[in-house]
Amino acid sequence: MSSVETIHVDGVWRAAASGAQREVLDPADATILAVVSEGSAEDTDAAVAAARRAFDGGAGAWPRTPVAERAALLRRVADLLQRDREEIALTESRDTGKTLEEGRVDVDCVSDAFRYFADLVVSEGAGRVVDAGSDTVHSVVVHEPVGVCAMITPWNYPLLQASWKIAPALAAGNTFVIKPSEVTPLSTVHLVRLLAEAGLPDGVANVVTGAGDPVGARLAEHPDVDLVSFTGGLASGTKVAAAAAPTVKKVALELGGKNPNVVFADACETPEDFDTAVDQALNAAFIHSGQVCSAGSRLIIEESVRDRFVSELARRAERIKLGRGTEKGVECGPLVSAQQLARTEAYVASALAEGAALRCGGKRPEPSGTRPESGYFYAPTVLDLCHGAMRVVREETFGPLLTVETFHTEDEAVALANDTEYGLAGAVWTKDAGRARRVAGRLRHGTVWINDFHPYLPQAEWGGFGKSGTGRELGPAGLAEYREPKHIYQNLDPKPVRWFAG
Ligand code: NAD
Repeated sequence: MSSVETIHVDGVWRAAASGAQREVLDPADATILAVVSEGSAEDTDAAVAAARRAFDGGAGAWPRTPVAERAALLRRVADLLQRDREEIALTESRDTGKTLEEGRVDVDCVSDAFRYFADLVVSEGAGRVVDAGSDTVHSVVVHEPVGVCAMITPWNYPLLQASWKIAPALAAGNTFVIKPSEVTPLSTVHLVRLLAEAGLPDGVANVVTGAGDPVGARLAEHPDVDLVSFTGGLASGTKVAAAAAPTVKKVALELGGKNPNVVFADACETPEDFDTAVDQALNAAFIHSGQVCSAGSRLIIEESVRDRFVSELARRAERIKLGRGTEKGVECGPLVSAQQLARTEAYVASALAEGAALRCGGKRPEPSGTRPESGYFYAPTVLDLCHGAMRVVREETFGPLLTVETFHTEDEAVALANDTEYGLAGAVWTKDAGRARRVAGRLRHGTVWINDFHPYLPQAEWGGFGKSGTGRELGPAGLAEYREPKHIYQNLDPKPVRWFAG
């Protein structure tokens, strides 16, 4: 496959029908990393038609392939991901800017997700027999694949977001067309190559690289698409939902977050506790330069420990080693694009204009050998004295910006943490087990960590309340998203019902 043949339709890699191409940039220095095919509505229609044929095909088609065989294929994909671990991690690091180590972690998590869905689909069996209250009726609920699935993914975790959709979709017997982010399409192309290598029949997995509009928009409205699963920002997500509505296809949206990290004073009592809480707040906010949907971008801290906590946090944030993600010793890479950099700068300017106090960062770092001036680097930034009316507190900044708000009581802490239109994830730090469970119970967020931040498990559902989305990925609900339950009611001894006398 040459670098411009990144559209995959019916088992064939090809260029865009129009011949259009797009340059993919390395965010560490803005040089050209790859050239990919720039798909159109025409390419999208061809990919959907291929997925449709593969779904509607005869006896040997993927939806009718025995579950054990589908599961075996997913396990082979997990093995192939591990075989190519270094290569994929490097691609992901260069494409997104994240560190090589983060790229490796992504590959491992994704391999786990493929294995998890393989095990789950086998363990769930063929269906559920229902007691119909009669020994002359046999009633069973079986699960069928939804059909042709469209998948639209963002740039921050390209491989991971693609896999959280692809693994359950294939386990359930669907066919699909995926449109990765135009900013970071490379690892998705690699993954689809692995699916073919693992033995997936032609037409089951199709890729169209290209822009949100037209490719994503066409997928969302397409009459032959049965489900659209979207991960990305609120603005694009609402467009996808609107475009999908006239065809009444299933829609799953995994959108943004404005995630609170609530720290009570008792979590900072001993030097060790204090160090742990600061360290995790740092990780919550700044890993992948804050370009994480579940980034702990709002520190909500008990007033009595604020000064000590914030000054240690700022001291450590200033020491984070920024640079090209592939270089040894680098702890944080650049932002993904010039657009994200400009957005981050605008949020800092608005925060300062609205009265925030800058404790560290607030600027681009000095260029260095590992940090070319042309790269999209921004220093980790702590903004103190923030409040809920500020734009930087309300909107998802998706950059290395941490805002600080304070509270005096548990009720106040909960109210602040829930004062967001989003509801993706949040954390509570306390030594008081009762309070930990009370607060966790009251937080209106899809994931709540107690004395931790960021871990997720393939077995546990991931998704949001409020404007963080609809539907769930991972866990049993992540598989259910890609299945239609069907009730089959069999009368073993049919008789007239005589509802009508004549
Ligand atoms: P984005 O919304 O700009 O783009 C996401 C995808 O949608 C891209 O592939 C893009 O090309 C496509 N798109 C854009 N406009 C479209 C349209 N009109 N119709 C169809 N598709 C369209 O998001 P992004 O900037 O790539 O990613 C960052 C966002 O993703 C953040 O808001 C982040 O919180 C969110 N995200 C959420 C999760 C989660 O699990 N909830 C995970 C990762 C990222």
